[in-house]
Amino acid sequence: MMIAHPGSEVRVLIRSRPTANFAQELIEYLPDGQTVSVHQRKDSRKGVVNNQLSSWSFRLDGVLHDVSQEEVYGRVGRGVVLGALEGYNGTVMCFGQTGAGKTYTMTGATESYKQRGIIPRALQEVFREVEQRSDHAFSVHLSFLEIYNETLVDLLASVRGCPGVGPGGMAVVEEAGGGVSVRGLSLHPVHSEEAALNLLFEGEMNRIIGAHALNKHSSRSHCILTVHIESRSRTLSDAKYVTSKLNLVDLAGSERLGKTGSGGQVLKEAMYINKSLSFLEQAILALADRRRDHIPFRQTKLTHALKDSLGGNCNTVLVANIYGEASQIEETLSTLRFASRMKCVQMDPVVNEHTDPVLQVRKLEKEIQLLKQELSIHNTLANRMGMSYDTLSETQVAEIQSQVRMYLEGSLDEINIVSIRQIQEVFAQFKQAVQQQEQKVKDQLCQNYTLVEKAQSTAGSTAAKSRGSQGTVGVVEGHGFGVGLAVPSERHIRLLSPGRTKAIKTKELASQGRKEAVEGRSPGPGKAVESMNPVQRDREGRKHDPQSQEPQGPQEPLRTDSPPPKAEAFEDFKAERGSEINRILKENKVVLLERRARLRELTEGVNTAKREIDSTSTALHQWRDKRQSQGQFVSAEGVPVLDEAELSLALRLRELKTQYRQQYEELRGTKAEVSYCQHLVDQCRTRLLNEFESWYNESFLIPEEVQAMLRSGGPIRPGLVPVYKALALEEDEQEHFERLRYELLADSPSAISFYNAQNRTVQRRNYSKAMSQTPVQKTTPRGSGRTKLPAILSVI
Ligand code: ADP
Ligand code: MG
Repeated sequence: MMIAHPGSEVRVLIRSRPTANFAQELIEYLPDGQTVSVHQRKDSRKGVVNNQLSSWSFRLDGVLHDVSQEEVYGRVGRGVVLGALEGYNGTVMCFGQTGAGKTYTMTGATESYKQRGIIPRALQEVFREVEQRSDHAFSVHLSFLEIYNETLVDLLASVRGCPGVGPGGMAVVEEAGGGVSVRGLSLHPVHSEEAALNLLFEGEMNRIIGAHALNKHSSRSHCILTVHIESRSRTLSDAKYVTSKLNLVDLAGSERLGKTGSGGQVLKEAMYINKSLSFLEQAILALADRRRDHIPFRQTKLTHALKDSLGGNCNTVLVANIYGEASQIEETLSTLRFASRMKCVQMDPVVNEHTDPVLQVRKLEKEIQLLKQELSIHNTLANRMGMSYDTLSETQVAEIQSQVRMYLEGSLDEINIVSIRQIQEVFAQFKQAVQQQEQKVKDQLCQNYTLVEKAQSTAGSTAAKSRGSQGTVGVVEGHGFGVGLAVPSERHIRLLSPGRTKAIKTKELASQGRKEAVEGRSPGPGKAVESMNPVQRDREGRKHDPQSQEPQGPQEPLRTDSPPPKAEAFEDFKAERGSEINRILKENKVVLLERRARLRELTEGVNTAKREIDSTSTALHQWRDKRQSQGQFVSAEGVPVLDEAELSLALRLRELKTQYRQQYEELRGTKAEVSYCQHLVDQCRTRLLNEFESWYNESFLIPEEVQAMLRSGGPIRPGLVPVYKALALEEDEQEHFERLRYELLADSPSAISFYNAQNRTVQRRNYSKAMSQTPVQKTTPRGSGRTKLPAILSVI
């Protein structure tokens, strides 16, 4: 949690380095102590009239010219340091060209105590304050980070006992709550000014050593010394504590790229510096713009590391170090421009307040204890002795439970309210009672309405497959639908006609044991089978027929809890609801068979005629050959002559051909009729089966979702295919027509169309075969439509 502090703005001060050649005519400090005017003579080489002056004026928070280090600290550092002790993050940052006095301002001349800079003074102040503020317990840690060419360096890594950088290397990481930290950067606890200064000097030393080793100039890197402060009140046993970070930053020289005139490493350094300084400016300017919700902190390591300590919610003071000489006027101008841009950033510093969870719990526990005592006094005064506010014991819970039971039964009129805990327990018991009641109702329903488990149904279908040859029962049992399916067995019995019951008794049950089981159910007078549930019926059956209690051998016991066998149901359907369409189907079949018989006759006739034509034609040719060889073929006039036998053969041949043509015409007509009748029969059969399917599904309450699942490609229902097979025409009929087809193919001039028809038949038969495979063997293509019936075997 952070506490807002009255708004202030980023403070920017100018500090000029003393020089013997101070360009007085160019740099003018106005008497207000806040304004700097810079006059620049335009360069005649750039084609501008000589001696023409341009002037700029910069109004900032202060000008530190010929000012002691002590005063600089007083005007720049002190406020930020004190703020950090209160819990505000703070940053003091020096920027400007190399040699302008940044390091001098921040660190000072290390060999001279008097000329020490802001950092040693800040450390001194921190520990002085820590000592003085005895009502707070402070803990102070130091870290010293260098950023060189976007590489993070821990300047205190050499300190004894330092854990060293982990395998991931150093990186700026964001913490929950918006803070940032540098992973791998060592944090050193410090308890005195001296210890802190030791760390500062060690870091400075490392900076210089590193500079030599890498052949870099120390002013080409950014340095951030961070004082991490945590303070807790000693007087209040408060769970709250505050933390802050005080960043003391010595930025790399800001001189522009062109000015360096260098290549290689220096150029690279300059590029990195320019980049980070420009991003620093961008970040600070973005902070100044309150409409912006994104601040580009992560563009460089510098701004990312300072994310929680720049502008915005912390105290920031910038020192613009300038070189007072005329030759550096362009750099001075650039630094002053940057300074004035920074100036407009508004800040709302906030205290970083946290809550210690352990302390918080301790505090709350204490408070609860106090309130309990308060309550007990209150109870004593109100004559309510013996009240307890602890968690209810098992006995108390049991007592409340029995009260609720009695209340629900009506033997208790009301339950006295004693305490909040008791009320809560009463409600909990009510809830439990309701749930138990619900479960009871569910169980009762389940007794009457059996749940067909998935495992059961799968077993059922496998059983159906293996028992396929045993008769209808095998088919009948295989009606697992692949999912839990509630089938009200009582209802399905009621729906069925008396005829259907008879059907079960007499013809559908293949096994004697099952038959007995069903027949044994025959109720006594006045007790209808239909009104009993399957369990009752079974029990009844056993009472009447002790035989049925004997083991049934390898056969499964009759599953009276499953839907009625499909083949049986189909018989019922044909007898009742589907009787009309079934009658039409039967009629059509009769016509079809009649036409087929006629077709058979005609084919035989045509074949006989063909054979006779062939033999007559052969005889005629033979006769002619004979006569020709005897020279009796031509008359005296040279005209070919016919003898009587030849004439009679020729006439017979003509007659046969006419007969053949007529019969063939009739055969073609009959064939068309047969295929038309076949079409009608197929149509009727499909309709009958479709209607049966819907009736079956509706009657035996297959839930919608199950039907949807089946439509979308569930397993094929075993049991369907045998029904279709039963409906298909007898196999010998098919065989006969196949034979006929081949005969015709051999003899008839229109064999080609038969050939095509035959191809179609083969295809349809293959499809039919595929459909008759068991679900285990066959994978049905999706959307092949479980509710849509497969093609019926064709006979032509
Ligand atoms: P920078 O860090 O900006 O590159 P330095 O702080 O190293 O510059 O300053 C360069 C030189 O000028 C140093 O020798 C330093 O002692 C000296 N110097 C800078 N500012 C002052 C000042 N205000 N008073 C005395 N000497 C200074
Ligand atoms: Mg420096």
